[in-house]
Amino acid sequence: MHLYEEQKIQIYNTLSGKKEVFKPIQDGYVGMYVCGPTVYSNVHLGNVRTFMSFDMVFRYLKHLGYKVRYVRNITDAGHLENDADVGEDKITKKARLEQIEPMEVVQRYTVDFHNILKTLNFLPPSIEPTATGHIIEQIELIKMIIDNGFAYEVNGSVYFDVHKFNENHDYGILSKRNLEDLIHNTRALDGQSDKKNPQDFALWKRAEPQHIMRWPSPWSDGFPGWHLECTAMSTKYLGDNFDIHGGGMDLKFPHHECEIAQSEAAKKQAPVNYWMHANMLHLNGQRMSKSTGNVVNPNELLSGENTFFSKAFAPSVIRFFNAQSSYRSVLDLTDDGLLASEKGFFRLMDAINVLDELKAGDSSTFNVSEWRQKCYDAMNDDFNSPILIAYLFEAAKQINQIKDGNASLVSKDLDLLKKTMNDFTFDVLGLVNVSKADTGTDKLAGAVELLIELRQQARANKDFALSDKIRDDLAAKGIQLNDGKDGTTFTTN
Ligand SMILES: [Zn+2]
Repeated sequence: MHLYEEQKIQIYNTLSGKKEVFKPIQDGYVGMYVCGPTVYSNVHLGNVRTFMSFDMVFRYLKHLGYKVRYVRNITDAGHLENDADVGEDKITKKARLEQIEPMEVVQRYTVDFHNILKTLNFLPPSIEPTATGHIIEQIELIKMIIDNGFAYEVNGSVYFDVHKFNENHDYGILSKRNLEDLIHNTRALDGQSDKKNPQDFALWKRAEPQHIMRWPSPWSDGFPGWHLECTAMSTKYLGDNFDIHGGGMDLKFPHHECEIAQSEAAKKQAPVNYWMHANMLHLNGQRMSKSTGNVVNPNELLSGENTFFSKAFAPSVIRFFNAQSSYRSVLDLTDDGLLASEKGFFRLMDAINVLDELKAGDSSTFNVSEWRQKCYDAMNDDFNSPILIAYLFEAAKQINQIKDGNASLVSKDLDLLKKTMNDFTFDVLGLVNVSKADTGTDKLAGAVELLIELRQQARANKDFALSDKIRDDLAAKGIQLNDGKDGTTFTTN
């Protein structure tokens, strides 16, 4: 008996605008696709939030016993600035500015992306396909769409005919837009474009002579449109109709809308049963934006080297902070919020560490089975992690009462409490059990203060060899001693 047979999940489906009971296409198996990063710069913290939410979804599905094939792509073909059909692609632009090969840009930021996700204790996806590794599949898709009459070629570029498609399909089904409004809200063509209508989008673009990333195709030497890669890679690995497609809210339109249109035009069926969208991450109440400077990258958040936060935060604290909001709510990153999460996280870890030492009693004063089911109910309700965390804290309170002799659990209940706490805290939320002393500076500060004191004694005794050794050995371990007129302080890097 698998857990998923007794725990039924409801997923908020963007397509229907409501929560639906999750029923996978093949019993016991789940296919999930999430749009990955475009690797032309350090991964955006907002994207990390999206991936973190789907990491939790992945973890929970696995915990329930589903065999999950989780596909998250790497966009390395470069799509055009502002996702437009004209202009320079982001990877080529970065390569030109830094005078390196486009694939060096891709490699550098793919490594950065993987490092950050590893630090934050992400599970790797089952398949991480790249757009450049699937050019042939993308060309085949374009041929199918042309053959079915939903795309046209002009001057070596191929465009999806949105108006034609909309005659007997619903373009806007996901984003709840309709073509009439789109026509009304888009500027007329300026005569420069090859497109029949401004709503049409590129499936293939002929490359200008200076464009470095290019591939041969039946239409021209060029490159695929961005929306196409996700259709090609998701259907290749998950089938023409699969269970879950996730991504950030900002991808709903046009990206995901176009994915649906491409699939229906090529394969004559809707690609996805459950569309899930993670909401945005704000910084101090404002949208994060490079142009206004209201932006912090994941490395800066982890190292504390930024102007927004009073200190560095441990990866698990950042995960915990994220899980304290529903993935469908806007999450506002603030110093106060992170400090509060840090406190909560250590309170939870303290309780879990105490749990290991508790002894069973003669009677149970707390209904563990009922509490356990409430934890599952929270996650079954569209992965409602903040409610789950509230139940974990309820258990933490019980644990402390047992420790103080004010409550008790019989052995069977104590074991179930331990297992459930560990399952949800570590397997599902992906937190790592670190005590304050491991991450933080409390213990370290004490030890360094002691060394500073010994060094002062050595100097007073004119034992400069020893005092220099203390300073140099600490420096080699990344701890700098700074001698000032008020004594010696230290900094770490
Ligand atoms: Zn995508």
